Amino acid sequence: MKITDVRVLRVRGNFEWNIIRMDTSDGLVGFGEAYWGPGVANMVIELKNLFIGQDPTNPEPIYTKAYRSAIPFGGTGGTVTTALSGLEIALWDIYGKAVDLPIYKLLGGKFRDGVLVYADCHAGEGGSIEPSDYAEKAIKVKKLGFQALKFDFDFTCYDPFSRKLRPEWFRHAVKVVEAVKNAVGDNVELAFDCHWAFSVADAVKLAKLMEPYGLMWLEDLIPPENVNALEKISKKTSTPLCSGENQYTRFGIMPLIEKQAVDVIAPDIPKVGGLIEGKKIADLADMHYILFAPHNVASPLGTVAAVHLCAATPNFLTLEFHSLDVPIWKKMLREGYIIDNGYIKVPERPGLGVELDMKTLIDCVGEEAEKFFS
Ligand code: MG
Repeated sequence: MKITDVRVLRVRGNFEWNIIRMDTSDGLVGFGEAYWGPGVANMVIELKNLFIGQDPTNPEPIYTKAYRSAIPFGGTGGTVTTALSGLEIALWDIYGKAVDLPIYKLLGGKFRDGVLVYADCHAGEGGSIEPSDYAEKAIKVKKLGFQALKFDFDFTCYDPFSRKLRPEWFRHAVKVVEAVKNAVGDNVELAFDCHWAFSVADAVKLAKLMEPYGLMWLEDLIPPENVNALEKISKKTSTPLCSGENQYTRFGIMPLIEKQAVDVIAPDIPKVGGLIEGKKIADLADMHYILFAPHNVASPLGTVAAVHLCAATPNFLTLEFHSLDVPIWKKMLREGYIIDNGYIKVPERPGLGVELDMKTLIDCVGEEAEKFFS
């Protein structure tokens, strides 16, 4: 069996989802997804010759060869790695279909039947930053069955260049956390995302203020480039810290883990390199007793790819769901809405074990989707 063609379909969800189709000489078709970003869809097509003619039942050697040959033109990160991630996922889908096994079995087998997802809630109802609106949103999302929630601390109460926070902001942050905690109770896990906004000193102050509330984690307190700075913060607080969505490949993630700069590592599977890269990151994290909670803004297809890896990972904590208000997310698969009571059941059918809903995609995307499926 040889790979004969690669196509991409751009689907506008809350992000632009790059859905990849890979065809083979045996008639087997695999699907993958690459993270959003300018030029990613074009890059998938630019790189397709590294895949065409290869036997897709060797995903790791094909990916490794493609990755290494792409190093001279930016292959260690960015758009190139993102495109390779989506192509790698499609290889696993074909491999699973060829051997009639779900991907999680090919990754070593499952530690769990369902994968806990956490709902990204952004801010309070209507985007408000009032504590009572955060609480209202938390109650609403908990009622949908979610047992873990994440909110953003994206307040504009800081200097965007020095990243210094205004003093009153700390009181506001504490009020927000207290309001949400009181609204949903102790049985719901809570995380807060800071989107790389703050200075090191303010990050330490915020993390210490959060200590009494037993957060699941505090995410991306500072910009992602300097791991030593995050390590410094981590040493000064008992609040679990999370980062990793802006690093590429296991080599990019490695310092965060080796320096114990985080308690929770959050690579994005359709961006960091794909499933085998994700598996290696999860294993390295496990060796450092760090938990694995992939960042995820993918369509349901890319989400299911991550589900297989999360099922096969002992140190898995939770997987992100970022599409609460995106109707197409719920109907893009023939299986329909795959989240039940805050969990995604691990698919048992071969490959990814789910199918794209052609009609939904043609209705939403039009002629491009017709060509993609033809
Ligand atoms: Mg984040």
